[in-house]
Amino acid sequence: MAEKEKVEASSEYISSNFIHNIIEKDLENQTYSGPVYTRFPPEPNGYLHIGHAKSICLNFTTAQKYNGKCNLRFDDTNPVKEDTEYVESIKEDVKWLGFQWDRLIFASDYFDKMYEYAVELIKKGKAFVCDLSAEEIRQYRGTLTEPGKESPYRYRTVEENLELFEKMRQGLYKDGEKVLRAKIDMSSPNINMRDPVIYRIAHAEHHNTRNKWCIYPMYDYAHPLEDAIEGITHSICTLEFEDHRPLYDWVLKELEWKEPPQQIEFARLNLTNTVMSKRYLKALVDNNDVEGWDDPRMPTIAGLRRRGYTPESIRDFCERIGVSKANSTVDIALLEHCIREDLKDKVESRMVVLNPLKVVITNYPENFSEEMEIENSKEDETKGNRKVSFSRELYVERDDFMEIPEKKYFRLFPGNEVRLKGAYFITCNEVIKDADGNVTELRCTYDPATRSGSGFNARKVKGTIHWVDARTAVKVKVRNYGYLMIENEKGEYVLNPNSMETFEAYAEPELNNAKAGERFQFFRNGYYIADEKLTNDKNKVFNQIVGLKSSWKK
Ligand code: ATP
Ligand code: MG
Repeated sequence: MAEKEKVEASSEYISSNFIHNIIEKDLENQTYSGPVYTRFPPEPNGYLHIGHAKSICLNFTTAQKYNGKCNLRFDDTNPVKEDTEYVESIKEDVKWLGFQWDRLIFASDYFDKMYEYAVELIKKGKAFVCDLSAEEIRQYRGTLTEPGKESPYRYRTVEENLELFEKMRQGLYKDGEKVLRAKIDMSSPNINMRDPVIYRIAHAEHHNTRNKWCIYPMYDYAHPLEDAIEGITHSICTLEFEDHRPLYDWVLKELEWKEPPQQIEFARLNLTNTVMSKRYLKALVDNNDVEGWDDPRMPTIAGLRRRGYTPESIRDFCERIGVSKANSTVDIALLEHCIREDLKDKVESRMVVLNPLKVVITNYPENFSEEMEIENSKEDETKGNRKVSFSRELYVERDDFMEIPEKKYFRLFPGNEVRLKGAYFITCNEVIKDADGNVTELRCTYDPATRSGSGFNARKVKGTIHWVDARTAVKVKVRNYGYLMIENEKGEYVLNPNSMETFEAYAEPELNNAKAGERFQFFRNGYYIADEKLTNDKNKVFNQIVGLKSSWKK
């Protein structure tokens, strides 16, 4: 209870953040003549992850809050790593999260304009063509403690620069032979301002512009222009771009932009037990360490969706973690807490036995069965009851039996009595084993007086376990997940070799009707979803969304 109160208090606090304070000042001062305008600018070089969800929620809800607009812009200025598969997945993910963009744009649509602006910078004497190699440029750049050295090509005339830049565009040079650099200050304490490269040659086909260009703008030059051309007012990005902001502002100042957008940085999301980098996630996919970008163990939006997370739970999570200027790592247990909160009164409960152990009730009539009434939800009475058949032979979880019980073990062991959920009390009398000594069956007796709903209270038992009727149970596949990454002895994150456990389980017959994407609580085992891809009329495959117990502490 205390936990819940804390969470709600913090989410109220978060609904306004330092970025909103900046925007409110701008609205007061009428800094911009147009509406508040944000954008989400992914590079289409992989699938989006939960870190991107933080940025999506922030950009779209900020626009909503101020009756503004938000664009989805593909930052596709790097021709080699990009792919239309990624473009499609990103659109799907943003929509699934519940957001609608104002305009959908490709940065590459601006290549003509970006070229014209580069020519303008050259004409103003603010950019030059440089023949130094990448390695030489690095050497000339200096270090944090030493100033850089000017390029010998820095003082080429405007005419010469215009001609060389045009020839770069025409494809007369090889990759790396020449670059266009901004002429700023080789002794700036900020290394990003030491005549940064703003255009490079890359003879590569681009997914959008094909072979039209062989020169491509660098991110730090392209991004402010993309924002400015679209009328973005607040360009929200992650903290690692803080040192690039002077260059962002320089580009727009030199091009005399009237109402330049402003870059605002916030701390990126880091989560325990996973990785938040498209490059790393792509390597997992390429190595077949996982079953694709939408593997339910992946922190991608597609993976979380397949795992059974709802858009509401992810938006709630993004709201609760808030927006700040300080980097930190969020406990993945908070994400799990959010999905539990969302599902607990939405989904119905069913009984599924993951590791079946047969129970025979020796004093129960043969060839007889009855229907037990069991509630569909502990949280929500309006969900009513369902009928579950009960007979002489049942399955229970292997874990719910111990031949030699530990201390405080209240489930089945020889001589002990437990409650079968929604049915009777049974007592274990005899343990049947195979030749190798494995337990294969339990012989039990039941007490007819203890029938659930009969008001029986002559004695109490400490354990309640779930079961299925062996006569009517259906076989389903169940997959439980561990974390994708775990810490090794040195405290480093490594891939968890046991991140998936599969079960040939027995379920209540009702689960035979489960539709792909349908969610349930499996009594005592957690929340599950019928896998989107693998569930059909014949096969039922359930993914564990999350277990029932919260380990989240604030
Ligand atoms: P990655 O390193 O995973 O590829 P990226 O920053 O290169 O991430 P982009 O496609 O460039 O990915 O990101 C699009 C937007 O999402 C950017 O504004 C970026 O700052 C933001 N973003 C990326 N990762 C996170 C994160 N972990 N938390 C918050 N925002 C993020
Ligand atoms: Mg990137």
